[in-house]
Amino acid sequence: MSMGVEDSEPENTSASNASATSRPDASAIFYDGKSSRRRSVTLSLLDRLELQQAGEAAIQWSYADIRRADGPLGMLRLTCLTAPDLARLEIRDAVLAAELVSRCARLDENSPGRHSVAAIVGWSMAAVVSIVGVILFGVPLVADRLTPLVPQAFERRLGDVAERQIRALFGAKNCDNAPGQAAFSKLVNTIRGAAGMDLSTEAAVLATAVPNAFALPGGKVFLFNGLLARAENPDEIAGVLAHEFGHVSHRDSTRRLLHDGGTSFLIGLLFGDVTGSGALIFASRSLLTSSYSREAEQNADGFAIDLMHRLGRSPKPMGQLLFRVTGKEAGGMSILASHPLTQDRLARMTAEDQAPSGPALLTTAEWQSLKAICVIGK
Ligand SMILES: [Zn+2]
Repeated sequence: MSMGVEDSEPENTSASNASATSRPDASAIFYDGKSSRRRSVTLSLLDRLELQQAGEAAIQWSYADIRRADGPLGMLRLTCLTAPDLARLEIRDAVLAAELVSRCARLDENSPGRHSVAAIVGWSMAAVVSIVGVILFGVPLVADRLTPLVPQAFERRLGDVAERQIRALFGAKNCDNAPGQAAFSKLVNTIRGAAGMDLSTEAAVLATAVPNAFALPGGKVFLFNGLLARAENPDEIAGVLAHEFGHVSHRDSTRRLLHDGGTSFLIGLLFGDVTGSGALIFASRSLLTSSYSREAEQNADGFAIDLMHRLGRSPKPMGQLLFRVTGKEAGGMSILASHPLTQDRLARMTAEDQAPSGPALLTTAEWQSLKAICVIGK
């Protein structure tokens, strides 16, 4: 049981060291949309993107307004809602592109049909760059830099393969008797609605006694019946689901797959056969056993705390559930293996406690149905 782990992650240390020595090339090409002149600009990623051209006033684009424009392979071409229609910014440096992409949350809005061949090929280009990166900087840094570049369609494919591996590992089926599923859907929809997440995210209860919950790349969240069995009220389960949706929102499991799959996985991406690779089988398993970084856990907790508050509920029950699991299920594949419950996490959830101001998330009858979701014949 790794309760109260306080040691820092060695990967994080090496990643930050490496990033200090690998500042991206900040130069880019800019067309202002008014003339056809090609301008060389220097980019600064501040609270907005700043384009600085020698001898001129800086142009600022807010990240939320930046959109992707079609561009050739190996180039990130951007436009901005507040700039003239034909304004284009072209970035060739993969590291800079990745950093920028990670800040532009609405990059691919209003462009149906993207994430198509071009996106996947572009992503393969990123994989090529990544191999060089792995050799120079090691896997952790590259996983961090590469994750924002992974198209969602590809992420879902990764998630589907990981799901098959995990189902094979546990021989587990979904629990979905009608009353239980109705209650579970109500809870998931409430959480998803409050989080503003779309229907591409889904959740299911798996019939296994292991007390766990996890998120897969692409947006699937699984709650194991073993954790549901230990829960005493809907807020406990809601908090855990919200935490997992936090990992989905931050793409933590994709980052971890890239990270744990290691070099051979990245090379597999390069040559196209990722879905059958042994590295992915290993990495899928590690989704259940290796820990998220302390930072990823804190961010997912922050997401869950905000969400529970938005629903007028307390995040404290989530901490109570995790604490209840502590000690009874040492290490292994319990939720505490992949989401280590440190004292500071517990303290934070307790500190954010508040009296309920919103409606109960489930009625008593619905909660009883959810608890019995794995009972056959209900
Ligand atoms: Zn977590």
